[in-house]
Amino acid sequence: MEVTRLYHELSHLWDPRSNESYSPRWNEGKATFLEYLTDSRLNKTVSLSSHMTNVLKRAKKQFVKQPKYLTTTFEEYGKAGLNAYSVGALFFALLHHELGEERFNHLLRTFYAEHVKSGASTGDFILALRDLKNPNIDWILSRWVNSHRFTLDILDATNFEHFIMLSIRSSKI
Ligand SMILES: [Zn+2]
Repeated sequence: MEVTRLYHELSHLWDPRSNESYSPRWNEGKATFLEYLTDSRLNKTVSLSSHMTNVLKRAKKQFVKQPKYLTTTFEEYGKAGLNAYSVGALFFALLHHELGEERFNHLLRTFYAEHVKSGASTGDFILALRDLKNPNIDWILSRWVNSHRFTLDILDATNFEHFIMLSIRSSKI
């Protein structure tokens, strides 16, 4: 087994029980991002950015194969039967970039602690993001949750840094 696969599965320990009838695909994006974040920290030969550039390429391929990706908001992935391993990992990478690592970890920790007994849905996670009342997060929500404009950033980007730059720049138009 590839060791990153193990990091992925360990990351799922941070998922509260799901209260949704369809698969909560966002969790796969989170676990995929944490898989590569962990690998970039423990295996110094591979950077987060090179891992995420590969993820970006995989997301682009999915868009070409399945055009439904281009017209589905991220929140609807579960219902639409789309998988969020790659696209979702890019979403969590943006959150990580905009919050910084400490606040990003704090967000995941408190979300888990608050929902460990009750369980949680994708909507609950969005609410937790809105509750941060952080302008750096609000633009991500308007691009990823209220619309599917984030697909343009993925299609246009040539590598991970470029994706971050395009996402931030297009949020200001
Ligand atoms: Zn998984």
